[in-house]
Amino acid sequence: MSTPIPTHRQRTKGMQRIDLAYAELASSEVVRDINRDVVLELIRTRQPISRADLSRSTGLQPSTISSIAEQLIGERWVIEGPAAIRPRGRRPTLLSINPSMVIVVADVRPDQAIVGVVDLNGRFLQREALPLAADPERGVRNLITCIERLMPKHPDKSFEGLGIILPGRVDPSTEQLVLAPNLPWARYDIKKAIQSAIKLQVEMDNDANACLLAELWFGRMEGVRNAVLVTITEGVGAAILANGQLLTGRSGLAGEFGHLCLDPNGPICGCGRKGCWEVFASTRSAINHFLELRKQSGRPNSPVPSSFELINMAENGDPDAIAALNRQALYMGQGLRIIVTALSPEVVLLNGGLTSAWDRFGPIVEAELADSMLSGTPPRIIVTSDVELARLRGAAALVLQRHAGYSKSNASDGKPIRRPRNPKKTAA
Ligand SMILES: [Zn+2]
Repeated sequence: MSTPIPTHRQRTKGMQRIDLAYAELASSEVVRDINRDVVLELIRTRQPISRADLSRSTGLQPSTISSIAEQLIGERWVIEGPAAIRPRGRRPTLLSINPSMVIVVADVRPDQAIVGVVDLNGRFLQREALPLAADPERGVRNLITCIERLMPKHPDKSFEGLGIILPGRVDPSTEQLVLAPNLPWARYDIKKAIQSAIKLQVEMDNDANACLLAELWFGRMEGVRNAVLVTITEGVGAAILANGQLLTGRSGLAGEFGHLCLDPNGPICGCGRKGCWEVFASTRSAINHFLELRKQSGRPNSPVPSSFELINMAENGDPDAIAALNRQALYMGQGLRIIVTALSPEVVLLNGGLTSAWDRFGPIVEAELADSMLSGTPPRIIVTSDVELARLRGAAALVLQRHAGYSKSNASDGKPIRRPRNPKKTAA
């Protein structure tokens, strides 16, 4: 007797290797959670939207959409708005994201922090800058005082959490700052100190990771599954999106391209090693090089400019400022060559540094990248000019990501981490 030949349909099912250590069978609960996340994302991106349109877009039964909508309204993520205008027939009520839910955000940098309040659509209600002490206990106290002053100014809002971005790496399993060459706060339990004072759930992560998440939530990443985001501030940080997942690596340390060695005899870096990419491509390096050029031209007592002032000076034709920033652009391009060769991203997002004068300095970076391609065309470069806004949206995305069901993939065990999803009611 011959064995029946499988039909084409059966054959295409094929076989796929499953990593049984991490495999999760889909229970009806998992399926319901996924459907809920999809519906919430559709409401967020297409609001206001009717239940019928949600049903058409997802292919889910109207009764399923109705029950998910009730759940989301009960969780207070979604509100029912005014009825849609229709020429005839029933006028459906439309669903939107609840505008009274807000997130407190903090962008912690080596010498200052920006604190703000942002709604779930990424709109800012308030922003405030404050100086930060190098001592972690005093620095965190400043931050808490500022947040405590800010929250009562929004009595009609419900605070869903606090997102903090840091110039360092946070271990996803311990939620501790494990590496921060430019901020001496490692080994201090920042999250515990703030959470016990403010009674909001705190999410913290590296600034570059958070900015990449913000691009996924609010930005320009539709359909992009492989990208690198580089932040250029006092240091140089990077975040990697690989096959649609944020790559964190062991202890959250993936993406430290800023500390790749470009020159073993180069200047000392904040990490203690010599010649890291960061000591050539950061805004601090551009300022230092500018001061060096001033000294060489017989003006050793020139005031130290901010990175913004340095760019302005270059735009006004100052030859030392132009030379310092040209050098920074060249080194940015050289570092990006390594990243692009290693990861072959579709998109490179640049945030900070020279992005506010990209017309002038972008071509230097782009020429370096074009020269490095082994095959094909260079990745698309997207620059962010309002860096402060992008960073604070990153802090908001950390809280949204937690509420969305899972945090980013934790590469130390490979599993998405399920988090409690019902937002806590917290009095403003
Ligand atoms: Zn370094």
